[in-house]
Amino acid sequence: PLVVVGSVNADILLSGIARLPSAGETVAATTLAHQFGGKGANQAAVAASIGADVTLIAAVGADAAGDAALDDLRGLGVDTGFVRRSATSPTGTAVVAVDAHGENLIVIAPGANAEVDGADAGRVLARGRGIVLACLEIPLAAVLSWARAARAAGWTLVLNPAPAPVEPLSAELLGLVDVLVPNEHEFAQLSGAEGLFAAGVGAVVVTRGARGALVRTSHRSAERTAFPVAARDTTGAGDAFCAGLATALAEGLDLYEAVDVAAACGALATRGPGARGSLPTRREVDALLAG
Ligand code: ADP
Repeated sequence: PLVVVGSVNADILLSGIARLPSAGETVAATTLAHQFGGKGANQAAVAASIGADVTLIAAVGADAAGDAALDDLRGLGVDTGFVRRSATSPTGTAVVAVDAHGENLIVIAPGANAEVDGADAGRVLARGRGIVLACLEIPLAAVLSWARAARAAGWTLVLNPAPAPVEPLSAELLGLVDVLVPNEHEFAQLSGAEGLFAAGVGAVVVTRGARGALVRTSHRSAERTAFPVAARDTTGAGDAFCAGLATALAEGLDLYEAVDVAAACGALATRGPGARGSLPTRREVDALLAG
């Protein structure tokens, strides 16, 4: 099984803005849309969509946005039984403003995401063996708790260090990571592959957008080219890639096979708008892999 530990957000997308505002300025958008988001929810949604047995560990508010987000995830087949409903914080919200050139401005209020912790880790991970996929849109203390519990219970930890951490990741956390999946920007903020391996990271998969991904272990470096697709909106490609990787590892594929599945999911996710505009299905992934 797969356990995704991460964030759930209600995204507010404002587009059709002639020019992004500077401080003190008010501008108009022609389009307003509400979308389901949050890296954890996006990753769990893609994993379920390609057939993973996935449980989401997250926190949302006791509000309408939280109800809607959970209904959506349940509809996709995600087990939301361990998602906390905060009594005091609203569901996390991201406001994304996009101008005519595709430049964006994003403000995120974590809300209930700040309440994710490791309280359920022992209980959840006692149920068999599998993969834990975590991101950094939740408190680092929660990520560390799940990392420790994963190591203790014999689960494999895949960490997507996104958004890029403000402070360097601790040696203890890196030592508990089996597969680290940063994009190029996030990778540049980390201590370099050699430093990561010295800290105990098992493998590093750097995603490079339309240029594919780089797979590195301490003794091997391999390139995975991207699948050629007519990309429309690459938002969420990284989340889909992580979900594909973790799902394939949970099914018992090796790292390189799992990166193939991940690259297929990343490519398929670029076909539609936003992070959830084109959830890949298993059939589409298999078709892309078959060539
Ligand atoms: P992020 O969304 O975190 O910035 P990337 O942009 O690196 O992540 O995308 C993640 C993965 O998705 C890439 O490694 C690649 O496999 C796939 N991908 C992204 N953009 C494209 C694209 N234009 N065409 C095909 N595959 C893509």
